[in-house]
Amino acid sequence: MSRIGFIGLGVMGTPMAAHLAAAGHEVRGFDLNAGALAKLVAAGGRAAAAVPDAVSGAEVVITMLPDHPQVEQVVLAPGGVLDHAGRGTLLADMSTIRPETSIEVAKAGADKGIRVLDAPVSGGQAGAEQAALSIMAGGDAADFAAVKPVFDVLGTTVVHVGPHGAGQVVKAANQLVVGGIYGLVAEAIVLLEASGVDAGTGLDVLAGGLAGSRVLELKRTSMVAREFRPGFRIDLHHKDMGIALAAARQSGVALPMTGLVAQLVAAGRAMGYGSLDHSALLKVIEELSGR
Ligand code: NAD
Repeated sequence: MSRIGFIGLGVMGTPMAAHLAAAGHEVRGFDLNAGALAKLVAAGGRAAAAVPDAVSGAEVVITMLPDHPQVEQVVLAPGGVLDHAGRGTLLADMSTIRPETSIEVAKAGADKGIRVLDAPVSGGQAGAEQAALSIMAGGDAADFAAVKPVFDVLGTTVVHVGPHGAGQVVKAANQLVVGGIYGLVAEAIVLLEASGVDAGTGLDVLAGGLAGSRVLELKRTSMVAREFRPGFRIDLHHKDMGIALAAARQSGVALPMTGLVAQLVAAGRAMGYGSLDHSALLKVIEELSGR
């Protein structure tokens, strides 16, 4: 069993840290939010007073933070993870951030003898709570093999996808697909309802056919009921569409549908829905349809 420092105990980090504690790891967590620390203690972990306290003596450090500025602050800034983790520590940044920052963190870690993987996840809050995440890791294969038993506690699909930054590229691809599916399910609901067909019944049929997807499985009932409590906030999906489009520009490829989905997500933010679940793309399609 390992000593694990876990920083970022939000929607995803709280259940992930709890699973690690339940599996017998010694988990010391830190978050700016005191309520999140109380949940970790209730789940059998220990609350750290600050980043150094969470990280000192840890064999593995996991960060699960909103975006690259928070990762830079927690990991790279003076007094952060790289200043306090011992040589040989393995840092798995499981946040979804731009690949350039993951590569920068890996280089800075290597300078201090700290092994780094970018290991973003997919599966949403339900995947975190059920320990059924998909984990896509970028970095050295040997480092991945070393930390895989820890990842296996959190996920059911755990794959080394390439060098540093590759995990984030796979995650960007994941997010453009997920965003597109949400947009199209929203359009299906609007069409069904506007045509006088029961949307729940219609989506039940779709879920059983070629249009079936995890989004339809997990979210069709809550979407039809207009239940948009996050889950995954539109603000975070907006960040992820930006990562995908920046990666496309850097690679010199055209992703026209991703561009359209990014604009729908941006519209959701502009309409004031940034803190709602990304299934609230339905509200965007409804407003575009004057409904
Ligand atoms: P969240 O906002 O619920 O949690 C982030 C946590 O980080 C918060 O508790 C916040 O207090 C903490 N934090 C921020 N700055 C900090 C700092 N400087 N020091 C310590 N703690 C700090 O976000 P989330 O939904 O858990 O997402 C986390 C990451 O996982 C994001 O990159 C997101 O894109 C990704 N992700 C989320 C989901 C999802 O369904 N929510 C799914 C897959 C991936």
